[in-house]
Amino acid sequence: MRLRNIRGSRERIADCEFVVHEPEKMKGNWSRKVFGNNNPIQIEIGMGKGKFLMELALKNPSINYVGIEKYSSVLIRAIDKQQEIKLPNIMFLRFEAEYIQNIFVKDEVDKIYLNFSDPWPKDRHAKRRLTSRQFLARYEEILRSDGLVEFKTDNRTLFEFSLEECREAGWILDEYTFDLHNDTKLLQGNVMTEYEERFSAEGIPIHKMIIKKQ
Ligand code: SAH
Repeated sequence: MRLRNIRGSRERIADCEFVVHEPEKMKGNWSRKVFGNNNPIQIEIGMGKGKFLMELALKNPSINYVGIEKYSSVLIRAIDKQQEIKLPNIMFLRFEAEYIQNIFVKDEVDKIYLNFSDPWPKDRHAKRRLTSRQFLARYEEILRSDGLVEFKTDNRTLFEFSLEECREAGWILDEYTFDLHNDTKLLQGNVMTEYEERFSAEGIPIHKMIIKKQ
């Protein structure tokens, strides 16, 4: 998701109380230092405007959510919403997920959500895909040992690539579907993302997989 550059968004983010500005300093202490409790941490990488994660935060007050987005022009939309509703259990980061191991320690993250991640269609960019083996190796360094990665996409090529990477990297495929909105079991409790609302309204099937390391 790339939006028109919004003037002043970088400055507003720099001043914002809902953004963690030096995430490296929180490594190993997110729950206590950032949220002041001992609740589990769940993250979304490539959060976009934050609809999905904020809805989860509202539903699950005893989970701490961290939304990660690399573009300020997108992140500012999530911040605008949070300024109005001020959920206590969600914080945001403007951060490139490639360096995710610099900000969390092993076992610190309970679950990782990836929704409608950029497909990077060229083969030579495969390692930039958020479900590539390179990213899975990074997730292993921060996830609880039985922690889950949940991935949704409309992009069948990316989904098939992701199934393959999961196998190659020795992860376990817990559940998957090529048509989430017609899968009564996996659809239970589904929270739609911005992209998901748009694509499913056009009749495009949504694919979902849940994977774990052990
Ligand atoms: N999850 C949202 C947005 C999907 S678009 C939804 O489903 O509606 C994908 C988003 O991921 C974009 O906003 C993009 O900027 C962000 N993104 C892609 N690669 C990223 C990375 N490596 N680190 C952080 N954010 C990333």
